[in-house]
Amino acid sequence: AHATLLRVDSLMTNWTSTSEVARINRVAGRETTVVQPEVATVLDYSLRVWRESDGAFDITVEPLVRLWGFLGGPRRVPSDDEIVTAFRHVGGRKVHFDPATRRLSFDDPQVRIDLGGIAKGYAVDVAAETLRAHGVRNGLVDLSGNMFAIGSPPGAAGWRIGIRDPRDRIPYLARLAIRGEGISTSGQYEQFIAANGRTYGHIMDPRTGWPVQGLIAVTVVSPSAMECDGWDTPLFVMGLEGGKRRAKSVPGLSAILIQPGTGSVDTMWVEETLRDRLILEPAAQSFIQVRYF
Ligand code: ADP
Ligand code: MG
Repeated sequence: AHATLLRVDSLMTNWTSTSEVARINRVAGRETTVVQPEVATVLDYSLRVWRESDGAFDITVEPLVRLWGFLGGPRRVPSDDEIVTAFRHVGGRKVHFDPATRRLSFDDPQVRIDLGGIAKGYAVDVAAETLRAHGVRNGLVDLSGNMFAIGSPPGAAGWRIGIRDPRDRIPYLARLAIRGEGISTSGQYEQFIAANGRTYGHIMDPRTGWPVQGLIAVTVVSPSAMECDGWDTPLFVMGLEGGKRRAKSVPGLSAILIQPGTGSVDTMWVEETLRDRLILEPAAQSFIQVRYF
């Protein structure tokens, strides 16, 4: 399982110049290139989520993510001009990919892809598959917040996963038992820049070119960790109303959206499908109200 994680990382990371994604970013804007099978799987799924999220999930945000310094820094607030310039090369329709032949090309040499919003989910799925193939019946794969639960701990109905408090008042806001499912969370509270009295996070709105504001965190539960990671980011981008609507319309996927309150009470919006499984921590009751959708 560990070897699997290392392999996926060495193919898909944007933090080195030696990964398959780094190679793609050097060549695909100049010529058509055939990509490695695992990258093809993630690319194909990414483009599907791009279409199904009306562009809220878009792997071509790389120039923006890099501009703000979220791909190895230094972190800073760019000028409007820099954002406009980077934004010209952003857009899923600039990517041409044929999953059957694995042939890929970009519209222009400055288009770049970033699989950071989905690759961890894929890695978790294949690590879990590896464990199952080796006879593991019960286990939890956890790659910094992207998880998959195989079976359950002895004597329990599922793995109890804590939903972190994005404001860090207490360790967990709530707990949720999962079994044969993935879970992942997206938010701006871990990777951000504080400047001009506000914070700018690492999730970009591919329709404006700016970091997304609005929700505090989005958690997704589904039978696939890649689906969880693929959808947590666009639901975050869509915001409360759009995110709730889309979460309900994707079959087999359930979401929890945390909306900041104007006072000291935030709202946790929990999809009906999770109602019976989510247990709010007693200590969270004074600053979290739960609503179902
Ligand atoms: P985390 O990496 O914290 O688990 P996410 O799954 O939300 O959280 O991934 C965030 C990463 O996704 C960013 O660091 C960036 O690499 C990439 N990204 C940012 N905005 C978008 C977007 N709108 N669509 C696709 N990927 C994005
Ligand atoms: Mg994600």
